[in-house]
Amino acid sequence: MFNVPSVPHQEKNKSIAVLTSGGDAPGMNAAIRSVVRYGLAHGCNMFGVSKGYSGLLEGEIQPLSASSVANIIQRGGTILKTDRCEAFFKKSVRREAVNILKRKEIDGLVVIGGDGSFTGAHLMENENKFPTIGIPGTIDNDIFGTEDTIGFDTAVNTALGAIDRIRDTASSHDRIFLIEVMGRNSGFIALNVGVGGGAETVIVPEEKQSIESICRTIDRGVKRGKTSSIIVVAEGPTEGLSHRIMKDLEKKGHNSKVCILGHTQRGGSPTAHDRLLASVLGASAVAHLLGGHSNAMVGVKADEVVLVPFKKIIGKKKALPSSLIEFAGILAT
Ligand code: ADP
Repeated sequence: MFNVPSVPHQEKNKSIAVLTSGGDAPGMNAAIRSVVRYGLAHGCNMFGVSKGYSGLLEGEIQPLSASSVANIIQRGGTILKTDRCEAFFKKSVRREAVNILKRKEIDGLVVIGGDGSFTGAHLMENENKFPTIGIPGTIDNDIFGTEDTIGFDTAVNTALGAIDRIRDTASSHDRIFLIEVMGRNSGFIALNVGVGGGAETVIVPEEKQSIESICRTIDRGVKRGKTSSIIVVAEGPTEGLSHRIMKDLEKKGHNSKVCILGHTQRGGSPTAHDRLLASVLGASAVAHLLGGHSNAMVGVKADEVVLVPFKKIIGKKKALPSSLIEFAGILAT
């Protein structure tokens, strides 16, 4: 499936630290395990930083052994804990973080997180020449430069399970259900869940849809004898979108119910796909660091591991494949 780059030569006494930052995602633990065990297998000393950049600034750095990461591959969340750290936006604070790492004689930092966490790592390396490498971990799959992110597959499957259950009650009561999934700025979860769950309509932040067009889809279904409908809604940037759509539908004569899946999508045991992805990306991150590559993210392109410089991905918007949007529309008719 994926290729792990080879380590050019057996490194001795390199010290590598790993942290998780930003929103948690199922599979982060599998990535931590892989980073630690791959590093140990290649002669490195491995360290875990607790609570992302906040923990780093507090010097919360502990050595990790092979057994410290035992029995975690199947667990959601992150054993290292994660955090958002306002202070890290300051150059002087990033300098202090590097000093803390250097005092612990750490040679490189693996950051598991999203675009924001990578921005912090990128600035830290540019300003202080300290090697950093990123592993994409976010349920949203919204990181530019990689086709997949750790946690996305699990979140989609969790949401699908919920939709299947809601469909049972929707069809028993002849109801329209608006199911809100995560995705403030990106509709990857909604679109994948919509296609996989056979939703009648998928609403994503990338494409405006009028209430009239949603009603037309519902009415078309009713004409064909459908008595219930599932509408998948990505939460979007402002809270309460599903309830606003529910009210608009009501004005057009359609009663509906709202179900917000919320944080249930973040938790749970990672799928086989996410465990494998996390394992391969974790090992690849270490291999690249040991090969002298940094200031970059390990990602996936056409089933291969790729190394993409941070400067080429940070702040860029990953586009939803328009073919999938169109496809969802065709299958919903
Ligand atoms: P994610 O990594 O999932 O995108 P956030 O955007 O919340 O999550 O970022 C996580 C953390 O990364 C922030 O709390 C902050 O510590 C750091 N970070 C984000 N953006 C920047 C930035 N522009 N400069 C420095 N650090 C940043």
